[in-house]
Amino acid sequence: MARVYNFSAGPAVLPEEVLREAAEEMLDYRGSGMSVMEMSHRSKTYQGILDEAEADLRELVGIPNDYSVLFLQGGASQQFAMIPMNLMKNRVADYIVTGQWAKKAWQEASKYGKANKIASSEDQTFSYIPDCSDLPVSADADYVYICENNTIYGTKFKTLPDTKGKNLVADVSSCFLSEPVDITKYGLMYGGVQKNIGPAGVVIVIIRKDLITEDVLPGTPTMLRYQIHADSGSLYNTPPAYGIYICGKVFKWIKKMGGLSAMKEHNEKKAAILYNYLDESRLFRGTVRREDRSLMNVPFVTGSEELDVAFVKAAKEAGFENLKGHRSVGGMRASIYNAMPVVGVEKLVAFMREFEAQTL
Ligand SMILES: *Cc1c(COP(=O)(O)O)cnc(C)c1O
Repeated sequence: MARVYNFSAGPAVLPEEVLREAAEEMLDYRGSGMSVMEMSHRSKTYQGILDEAEADLRELVGIPNDYSVLFLQGGASQQFAMIPMNLMKNRVADYIVTGQWAKKAWQEASKYGKANKIASSEDQTFSYIPDCSDLPVSADADYVYICENNTIYGTKFKTLPDTKGKNLVADVSSCFLSEPVDITKYGLMYGGVQKNIGPAGVVIVIIRKDLITEDVLPGTPTMLRYQIHADSGSLYNTPPAYGIYICGKVFKWIKKMGGLSAMKEHNEKKAAILYNYLDESRLFRGTVRREDRSLMNVPFVTGSEELDVAFVKAAKEAGFENLKGHRSVGGMRASIYNAMPVVGVEKLVAFMREFEAQTL
């Protein structure tokens, strides 16, 4: 068996330990005589898996009791509609557009009310995070929306915007559990788990309880109401049961690794190895303003499209997979999520050095 170094932006690398454990439990989950995939979601065994996953996530992040944790389906993209349907009481919300995902969320929200784009970095291909210290936040805005880590462009909010008292809603899909967060600064935080936590198909929503109300936009489907899922403990209907089980294993792995501050240290170490090389390289360069660089997604280019293609091909042959940049930006992108080991980044940089020496 040969595992590659997988730099995919998502679905992405998972801890090998987690995969091995899941493999061991595949046919017979802890004496139940069946796989978690085959189990009733109403069984005591599955309830235990779900409860433990929630408890571990609460402990890892430090989620206070006035927040609900919901394990939902539909990916991050479903939240683009679910958020306005549930939270846009005044039919007004402010969006900070720092990339394709934020733009899609903004466009979707526009279907339900007045979605104001109060800041954007589209003028420079989303290569930076705009100054959000004094934005024209709407007086009647129901929330201010950000995409905290921009998976495609490789930027990250290092300081949260001043929302002037409005609830902050954040898409954290690609930086979920990558470093400590103060959840009390958010009204709602959500992430598709296939970037940093688990298998595609699960989206985790952490929402302050006072935002969960019956007062949703007319016509909101039952399945898209937070209250329905909160009242039923994420078991209104069959949840993405196996995916949640794997997420639970990843939470335990992060706990074992030392929690979110240890993750931050681990991620900073990897990012420094790659960014330091990009800054000294005569062939490759990063595409993002230095102070806004993501710890998770690192886009870079050579400046020549042919060389970019040649590099991605050579890298693949050497066992470094999925380094091609997003189709909207081109070049390369190395996603170095929690589960990417330091040695993976060290070997990638060694390979890049070699490629540079042979090219120049
Ligand atoms: C991948 C991604 C999405 C879309 O996720 P889906 O689960 O495919 O809907 C949304 N936001 C961000 C920040 C992402 O990285």
